[in-house]
Amino acid sequence: MRVLIVEDDTMIGESLREALRGHGFAADWVRDGRAADAVLATERFDAVLLDLGLPQRSGMQVLTALRGRSDMTPVIVVTARDALADKVAGLDAGADDYLVKPFELDELLARLRALGRRQAGRASTVLEVADLRLDPATREVSRGGRPVLLSAREFALLQALMERPGAILSRAQLEDRLYGWGEELESNAISVYMHQLRRKLGDDLLHTVRGLGYYAGPPKDA
Ligand code: CA
Repeated sequence: MRVLIVEDDTMIGESLREALRGHGFAADWVRDGRAADAVLATERFDAVLLDLGLPQRSGMQVLTALRGRSDMTPVIVVTARDALADKVAGLDAGADDYLVKPFELDELLARLRALGRRQAGRASTVLEVADLRLDPATREVSRGGRPVLLSAREFALLQALMERPGAILSRAQLEDRLYGWGEELESNAISVYMHQLRRKLGDDLLHTVRGLGYYAGPPKDA
């Protein structure tokens, strides 16, 4: 999941970005409303964590502009404690959810997962492809009932593929999901992680389509 953090407080922004990256999200961070506008107009995110009190343009202006472009990227508004009016205004302006500062990382992670599910239109939290099972909430993966241990990147890659079984995702699409700006990225990173995943999970459900990308599911007939 690719998340944009819009936050002018350096300490909060930096720690959120590092925490989310540590949990396998591709997280990027901008510090003011104008930068948020510019980035949201040109790049796609799976969720935006939007502080309301921002320099240049307020979070509310950013949100209104976003929805004004019919951009339905999920937005979690971050408000100060007791700012009930802000919360209501944020939801009215098209926010999907809100968090009250200070919040626990666990709560943020749970809300991001919920957004991801809603976005994908899934009722169940667990992703399944044949006997391969991935639970985004507990971060457990199993194959045929046997637990398999994955790194954060391997998990993120597998999740991206399992969210849309059979759909071919390009290397660039997968890189977007796994990496934020400025993160060190080897050109063959995705194929290396695919190799690791096949080694751990078997090679019958994870496929490479030469020149196009990768998919999870039963093999398509060539
Ligand atoms: Ca602020």
